[in-house]
This record gives sequence, C-alpha cells and structure tokens, in this order.
Amino acid sequence: MLWSVLKILIFVVIVAALAMGAGYIMEYGPDVVLRVGSYEFAPSPLIAIICALVLLLAVWLLLKLAGLLVAVVRFLNGDETAMSRYFDRHREKRGYDALSEGMMALASGEGQLALTKAHRAERYLGKPELTRLLTAQAAEQVGDRKTAEEAYKAMLTDDRTRFVGVRGILKQKLAEGDTDTALKLAEKAFSMKPGHEEMQDTLLKLQAEHSDWEGARKTLNAKLKHGTLPREVHRRRDAVLALSEAKEVIAEGQTIEARESAIEANRLSPDLIPAAVMAARSYIEQGKPKYAARVIRKAWDVRPHPDLAAAFAEIAPAENAAARLKRFQPLLKAHPENDETRLLTAELHLANEDFPAARKAVAPLASAEGANARALTIMAAVERGEGSDDHIVRAWLARALAAPRGPQWVCDNCQNIEGAWAPICSNCGAFDTLTWREPPMAEVAMPGGLEMLPLIVGPTPKPEDEEASTLVIHKDAVEDAEPVEDPDTKPEDEGPK
Ligand SMILES: [Zn+2]
Repeated sequence: MLWSVLKILIFVVIVAALAMGAGYIMEYGPDVVLRVGSYEFAPSPLIAIICALVLLLAVWLLLKLAGLLVAVVRFLNGDETAMSRYFDRHREKRGYDALSEGMMALASGEGQLALTKAHRAERYLGKPELTRLLTAQAAEQVGDRKTAEEAYKAMLTDDRTRFVGVRGILKQKLAEGDTDTALKLAEKAFSMKPGHEEMQDTLLKLQAEHSDWEGARKTLNAKLKHGTLPREVHRRRDAVLALSEAKEVIAEGQTIEARESAIEANRLSPDLIPAAVMAARSYIEQGKPKYAARVIRKAWDVRPHPDLAAAFAEIAPAENAAARLKRFQPLLKAHPENDETRLLTAELHLANEDFPAARKAVAPLASAEGANARALTIMAAVERGEGSDDHIVRAWLARALAAPRGPQWVCDNCQNIEGAWAPICSNCGAFDTLTWREPPMAEVAMPGGLEMLPLIVGPTPKPEDEEASTLVIHKDAVEDAEPVEDPDTKPEDEGPK
C-alpha cells in the first residue's frame, strides 16, 4: 500500500518535472533555431507534440497505477499470502498468454497448436468457460469431432456457456445430417435466447424441413418481435407457412380446415400466386365462383401467371371456347402488354380457332430475339391452323426446340428449377426462395443435337424430305393444336381445350 502511494508520488513528481521541462523548452523554444543548409525552423510545434505525448503517457501510467491499486486492495482483502498472490498473478499471466497465443493459432488455422495452447491455458488459468471454447474450436479445425463434442458437452454444465455448448453440438448434428436431434437442440437454444437471429433462422429451416408449420410460424413471429425481419417479409413468409399448412391439411383430406387455411394464406399475402390458386380452388369447391374469380383477379393484377389462368379456367370447366374467351377478358385487359397475357390471349384464340387474332397476340413475342419455347410452339400451332406449309410449321418447332423454356419457379439460392411451387427448395433446403423468373441460362442440352437441326429440318426443307419424318411427334402435336412444351409453364392443361 505504502509502496503504491510512493510510486504514485514518484510518478507525479516525474510528470511535474516533465511538464516543467516542457514548459521551459516551450518558453525559450523560439530562440532555438535549427538550420539545415539554408532551411531553418523554430521547433515550438514539435515541442508541443512532445508535450502532448508525454501527457498521454502520464495519463496511461496513472490508469495502470489505479488498476494496480485496485488489485492491491483486493489482494489485501483476500486471505492468501503475498507470495502466493504474486505467484498466482504470474500463473495467470502465463495462462492468458497461452490463451491469446491459442486464439491467434486458431485464427491462423493452426488447429493443433491452438489445442496445445488451450490445454496449457487451462492448466494455468483454471477457467474452463474460456478454455473449453478454444479447445472445441481447435478440435473442430483439426477434424477431431470427438474432442470437440466433449468440450461442447462440458460447456452445457455451466450456465454461462450452455448456449454456446448447445449451438456447438447443434452444428455438429447438422453437419452429420441428424436433423431430428438438431431440431430438438435448436428448440432448446431458441428457448434460451429467443432473440438470437442465427438460431431463429436455423430453427425455422429445421421446422420447415420437418413440416412443423405451426412451430415455424411461432419462430417467424419471434423474428418479427425481435426486429430481425421486416414486416412485409414476415407477412409473406407467414403466408407461405399458412399455405404449407393448408397443403398438408388438404393432403389429409380435411376439406373445411384446408379451405380456411388456404383462404387465410391468401388473405395474408394476396399476391402469393400459389396461395391465390389454392384459395380460388377452395372457393370453387364451396360453390363460390365469384369469390374465386375475385381472388384470381387480385393476384393477376399484381402479376400475371399461368397457374392463375389455369385456376381461373377451372371456375367454369364446361364452357365453350368463345364463352371462355369472353370470361377471361378482365384478366386480359389488366396487363395487355405483359408476355403472359399475350400468350394466354393467343392460347384462348387458338382454342376458339381464331387464328389471325392468336397470331396478332403472339407474333411480337415469337419474332423477338430470345423468344421462348412456349411462344414459338403457339406460333407453330397458329401456322398450322392457318394452313401454312409444313416446312414453316416445322421451322417454328425447330426454333422452339433450341429456345429457352421461359419463366419457371427458380430457387434464388441455388438456381434449382422446381416443377411446382413449394415452400422449401428441394435442392438446397432454403425456405421461401422460389421465384417465378427465367432460369439463369438455357437448361436444354441436346447432346450433339441442335447443330443437326438445320440438316434435319433445313432452312427451306423440301416437302418430301424423308428425314423430316423424325419430327412426326411435333406434327401430331400440332394437328391436335396442342403446343408442345413443358406442362408446368402452360396454363391451359385443364383449360380451354
Ligand atoms: Zn435452392
């Protein structure tokens, strides 16, 4: 104690002397002129900087000293002898040194060294809550899963490290693919820290994978409550979950609940196409075609989509082509320039055998650069309907073979293409990532095929071209006035035929 006071006094004296010295130099400073060649300068600014540095140093020393003083007071209140205190401090210092070296080793990817340092730090420090984490992470880095798991399990026993332990084991289970255990661990971790964003996301993903839609909606609400999710994203995701719930209920055949869930999903997010389609079908089942039409029109206003058109067609399955064309008018007028509207218009006119009108609707799309397969096959059907030469029809179909397939449900996360909308990507397992758009590249690969097409079809093929009969499947398809394409992109499957 006395010694500390003495030290403080000595430092105060030193600082005072330094300040006085600096003041002295400052005062007489301008007299000192340094001359280098013809250049000379008065050093007062330099002195000022030195003074500032000295002051900073003094403050730093004082702070250190205060810390030491506090430590001394604590030691005096303890019951250990001065000798062992000194020794402990020494041990502690070595322990922390080992710990910091271990952390550095971990960060620089030297897992084995980090493990050694962690053991050393544990021996000196005796603070398992610090060293276990280093041990676990170092063990993970060198691929020693068993040691890592032991370290994480040991962390479960301490309240301060329990969450980290659960999270560590959870990550291991996820890596092993044991999602059942992972789900339980995620629920446990979530109950400990409901505001932890990563845990919310992990739990949500696991719940969605396990089709626990009710649990997932609760997690989603927690995300909203803790401010980690914008409100409109929450609305949409909640709708996706409600929709998934509805799908499940429909699979179980409980129609009334299914209707309610579908309508609920649609109410939460009126522009979510699958929700609108499902809600419309529920209304059709209930014998409320007006409600069904309204739901479809609302979603169509936001975004025209073939699934919506198909559901709209189901409202009156028995009507003839002319009546259907008339009934579709509100949809067709909503976005007249939209590609989907144009294709739908063309298909309705095709069904009605009004080929010039169909041509008018589809021609801008079919003749455009990068026209998709659907537009080109409709064009082929129009040509066939108008009685054009076979080689013209075949030329359109040949182009359709090589053309991009148009918008589809594509995962934003991994670019996987899904045949039908689903809440979870079947490839990467991401939740609510499917969007209706063009796939990033033409996914049709015909081994050694497409270059052969001009040889088979030819730019101006002869009518009696024998090889052209290889395209007979397409001819048949055209004779039925049925566009050859992926059924997923086509709205009229149950439609106006
Ligand atoms: Zn994906």
